[in-house]
Amino acid sequence: MASATDSRYGQKESSDQNFDYMFKILIIGNSSVGKTSFLFRYAEDSFTPAFVSTVGIDFKVKTIYRNDKRIKLQIWDTAGQERYRTITTAYYRGAMGFILMYDITNEESFNAVQDWSTQIKTYSWDNAQVLLVGNKCDMEDERVVSSERGRQLADHLGFEFFEASAKDNINVKQTFERLVDVICEKMSESLDTADPAVTGAKQGPQLTDQQAPPHQDCAC
Ligand code: GDP
Ligand code: MG
Repeated sequence: MASATDSRYGQKESSDQNFDYMFKILIIGNSSVGKTSFLFRYAEDSFTPAFVSTVGIDFKVKTIYRNDKRIKLQIWDTAGQERYRTITTAYYRGAMGFILMYDITNEESFNAVQDWSTQIKTYSWDNAQVLLVGNKCDMEDERVVSSERGRQLADHLGFEFFEASAKDNINVKQTFERLVDVICEKMSESLDTADPAVTGAKQGPQLTDQQAPPHQDCAC
């Protein structure tokens, strides 16, 4: 198994010419909200309707171009531990971004968002960026959590918000790209006021500032 980087910022890898930075991203949220489906949709553009509980897979890797940089994403999926909401601290270590997911047809998964957020704040790096995602927005007839409540909770927690569907491929790519952009923005900010002891570099790379797109909710 590849080991996760402990770098607090994207690692500049001179030995590997294939990418400029590597970001570790975690997908968390209650069991069955669609985390594994979301990851498969993004990494492999596939969707499996049957419930396949997550065993064995730890992460997928995808390299994208963003802000003129080649960014390697190491995206971790929880292997079933989310049922107990006790994911080990090791899992959180080194993560720069989180996709915190609930299911818009499942009130309990929405009510658990606060707990997941506390877990992130307790175990992860202070500057880790979080996007709240209400998944399964294709199931409008069974919706129990309105977009408005999702957005309000995201505002309250200080996260950006998307509604998405792994099934219909709505806002999946956008979620990851926005998360990468906010990580880049944060990294660029931190490096501007860099404490060399923290960044491990005298002069950090300057990333192009990207205009933030407006919040995108479900299009269905
Ligand atoms: P996880 O436990 O959070 O990893 O959830 P899974 O990815 O295993 O998905 C749980 C169930 O929800 C499976 O039956 C999926 O097919 C289904 N599912 C996942 N995403 C969506 C979605 O966007 N729309 C619909 N309708 N079903 C979904
Ligand atoms: Mg899973």
